[in-house]
Amino acid sequence: MSRPADRLRVAMQKSGRLSDPARNLLKQAGFQFRSSDKDQLFCYGDGCAVDLVLVRDDDIPQLIAENVCDLGIVGRNVLQEKALELRGTAHAGLQELMPLAFGGCRLSLAVPNGLDWRGPSDLDGRRIATSYPELLGEYLQQQGIGAEIVALKGSVEIAIKLGKADAICDLVSSGATLVANGLKETEILLQSEAVLACQNTPFGDGRDALLADFLARIDGVMKVQA
Ligand code: ATP
Ligand code: ZN
Repeated sequence: MSRPADRLRVAMQKSGRLSDPARNLLKQAGFQFRSSDKDQLFCYGDGCAVDLVLVRDDDIPQLIAENVCDLGIVGRNVLQEKALELRGTAHAGLQELMPLAFGGCRLSLAVPNGLDWRGPSDLDGRRIATSYPELLGEYLQQQGIGAEIVALKGSVEIAIKLGKADAICDLVSSGATLVANGLKETEILLQSEAVLACQNTPFGDGRDALLADFLARIDGVMKVQA
């Protein structure tokens, strides 16, 4: 797909937990966009060389990997899951440029409250439901645990009640959802937050200077907030 080399195209979540903080960050960094209509998929930079593409968060890493977008604002959890999935393919090479200090959460293992937890090896031979099969698979391999991964797109927390799994691996922030489902958090696999993502090779055109300016401005906002 041929694109102008004099503009940066940034993918961010259309509507969800990361949308408002991401928009605010760009606004504070001095970037303005012509469309204020939230349903618009594409927003042109107003007086700046940065355009926005508004999509589901899960699609952001792939859009970057396929050069459809140059940068993305996405959870580390989603970025790392996709990076593992794309390992060894023509679209490998996603990287985290900068943590953004919002959207904080962790990817954790949780088991029923009543279960006496001694450690990760308790999961040997068990079934674990998750929307993050790659990250969970890597963890299980590192720990030398032979468990079955039950990949689900959503509603992971009810998989145990439904008899589909013995444990879950899901995102946790306050922990209230786990408590409401009679579960307890046992191990943290990944500390996550929203991050700036891009490919790990320079663009080799005018976008490299645009990216440097973009990063400097975002970094300036982050330093003021810290
Ligand atoms: P989309 O419609 O874009 O696919 P979604 O439902 O997958 O949206 P959100 O629930 O808005 O996504 O979460 C987006 C990101 O927010 C997560 O990937 C994660 O990085 C972060 N996040 C922070 N706290 C939580 C939490 N408690 N549960 C889920 N995600 C969280
Ligand atoms: Zn999503």
